[in-house]
Amino acid sequence: MTDKALAVGDTDVFIPVSINEETCIGCNLCVMVCQPDVFVPSIDPGGVPVVLYPSECWYVGDCVDVCPVPDCIALHVMDKNKVIWKRKESGEEFQLS
Ligand code: SF4
Ligand code: SF4
Repeated sequence: MTDKALAVGDTDVFIPVSINEETCIGCNLCVMVCQPDVFVPSIDPGGVPVVLYPSECWYVGDCVDVCPVPDCIALHVMDKNKVIWKRKESGEEFQLS
């Protein structure tokens, strides 16, 4: 089938993880550790995994923890899923990035 068509990630939804294509070594540890199977391996050996099912992400960060390359993969949390903090003195509300 791969000679006729390729699966590509949906870009119309929020993308929970991003991979630095310059530093990724294609070890696929993130693919293996991800329980809901957000990623699929690249068709190219040693290639960068594809985020194929972004809406399945659990936002726990196992993929980030397992990656052997510092700062290669990043987890992005939707603003609506972040805790809203309120400073006691000023009343200012903020969210952590
Ligand atoms: S945060 Fe968890 S569910 Fe989301 S892509 Fe990483 S390992 Fe998969
Ligand atoms: S674990 Fe890190 S280096 Fe390995 S494939 Fe995933 S993003 Fe790339």
